[in-house]
Amino acid sequence: MAKKQFKAESKRLLDLMINSIYTHKEIFLRELISNASDAIDKLYLTMAQNNTGVSRDDFEIRIDIDKDNRRLIISDNGIGMTKEEIESNLGVIARSGSLDFKKENEKKEDIDIIGQFGVGFYSAFMVSSKVTVTSKAYGQEMAYQWESSGSDGYTITGTGKGDYGTEIILTLKDDTEDEKYDEYLQEYRIHNLVKKYSDYIRYPIKMNSEQHRLKEGTEDEYETVIEEQVLNSMVPLWRKNKNEITDEEYQKFYQEKFYDFTDPLKVIHTTVEGVVSYNALLFIPAKTPFNYYTKEYEKGLQLYSSGVLIMDKCPDLLPDYFGFVKGLADSQDLSLNISREMLQHDRQLKAIATRIEKKIKSELVELLNKDREKYEEFFKNFGLQLKYGLYERYGENKDNLKDLILFYSSTEKKLVTLSEYVSRMQLDQKYIYYASGETEERIDKLPQIEMLKDKGYEILYFTDDVDEFAIQMLHEFDGKEFKSASGDDLGIKESTESDAAKKEAGDNKELFDFMKETLEGKVSEVKLSKRLKSHPVCLASGGGISIEMEKILNAMPSDEKVKAEKILEINASHPVLDALKNALVSDKEQAKKYTELLYNQALLIEGLSIEDPVAFSNAVCELITNKGQSS
Ligand code: ADP
Repeated sequence: MAKKQFKAESKRLLDLMINSIYTHKEIFLRELISNASDAIDKLYLTMAQNNTGVSRDDFEIRIDIDKDNRRLIISDNGIGMTKEEIESNLGVIARSGSLDFKKENEKKEDIDIIGQFGVGFYSAFMVSSKVTVTSKAYGQEMAYQWESSGSDGYTITGTGKGDYGTEIILTLKDDTEDEKYDEYLQEYRIHNLVKKYSDYIRYPIKMNSEQHRLKEGTEDEYETVIEEQVLNSMVPLWRKNKNEITDEEYQKFYQEKFYDFTDPLKVIHTTVEGVVSYNALLFIPAKTPFNYYTKEYEKGLQLYSSGVLIMDKCPDLLPDYFGFVKGLADSQDLSLNISREMLQHDRQLKAIATRIEKKIKSELVELLNKDREKYEEFFKNFGLQLKYGLYERYGENKDNLKDLILFYSSTEKKLVTLSEYVSRMQLDQKYIYYASGETEERIDKLPQIEMLKDKGYEILYFTDDVDEFAIQMLHEFDGKEFKSASGDDLGIKESTESDAAKKEAGDNKELFDFMKETLEGKVSEVKLSKRLKSHPVCLASGGGISIEMEKILNAMPSDEKVKAEKILEINASHPVLDALKNALVSDKEQAKKYTELLYNQALLIEGLSIEDPVAFSNAVCELITNKGQSS
């Protein structure tokens, strides 16, 4: 019989399928099952509209394995196709969208196009050397058979078939070195594939399966029987009523689906009806995934269209800063045929994503308010992500995140929110103060914060690299600006800045000029400190880049090193000041050495390394042994 030719576009797509190097060929089964489910939907609808007293239970999708002939058979009792429909549906590619996409990306691998969104019926050719479709349209006398072994064409013949519906016979390709097609003849493999991709198809997917069991009436004799099994669970958990779902069910679902060994910290289950309708089932993991803060981690939610999985990790459903959330969204407003490319611009998807983001935010706020302990546990795992979120995109999302972040507080000795901080601010306090360092213990000992502490001001301790950067993006909270405790200006009006103090500063001018000269290029200024109480010296940062930021930025791989402007502050009431003054008069060399020593001390306190540790050590020894000291 004469072969008919595929239309040019279909042929191209078919070629693509046949020669596919795509690694997830298994999705062909999902495609065929969802076609079968659609066909049943159509018939069910027609029958229901005609009041034929039809019930969903009258329908089924069957999978049969014919190992001897290397055949996999998928059949349904759906609406079927007429000869014309077979011709137009299977001879011509229906998905113009996916082919357009392919055109634009001609040079790319076929991965994307086949990938997550599928290309329907033709995907059968990824695993089959021959595809035979026998179909009888509902209400028609004749059945027809379509057969093709590839892109050289297809045949259509009249044939016998009792019931309406469609049967698709895949003759699997021969195994090759790299590719084993006969895995699709294994019951467990088919079972798993249905579970993975089509579990929630609303009609039963049935398969005969061999069961080994105890023979009736015997105690140790086993028999093998063929039993029909329904492979899919049909009702997705997320479509069930919340009240009907136990914690255990949620946990089991989460662990199985998202490969976690621990129960989730929080489950968010939501149903939305309106402009867009969807169900979402979201989980916040209890532990940070081992690769979370690496490039390997892929954020995203599973995306279903009416119970059919269309994308395993849809990144567009989650903002980066909530990238730790696992779960899925299911909407009947999304087309199954939508391509990844199109998805990105899909309005429905955007609307769903926006609502999901709001929902996650409000659930987190609620957790923060109602279960502080749990929230802090969450924050330990993903707080860093939230702070990155504040910083990223030039602070675009700061309003979304500022209520969710916590910092350690000097006065409360625990994590606090910014609004808690502001609510406790002293009457005369204008700023939100923070200090940065490696650990809370180290920051707590910083000389720079002595005076603030003395005033009873609360100080937030920043121990994550991103903290200061994030706070710079935030700039203020509740109208209160942030101020670094080691910044040059603490923003405190000194009522104590008496004439005497000014005079004292004037008195020291010669000494400070001398010191600055000695520390040429290292500090921009030497001055009396307003913040030191017991310590002799400290460093303050003058410009926009703090000393802590300098450390972080310079630890990153880059040739360009940044430099924070450093100011050396001297405690006016510390005896070192007099020692310096005396040395300046009696022995300039000595004064230089003292200056170097004090500067290096300040560096060490700040957690910075000193340029010449050996010289520093020698200088200390000299002091101890009193060698070289002027009399
Ligand atoms: P899509 O499902 O996106 O339309 P496919 O290439 O998968 O694209 O299928 C093309 C068309 O063939 C379908 O739209 C449908 O009309 C028809 N079809 C495919 N499988 C079946 C089936 N099992 N029963 C009835 N019609 C089918």
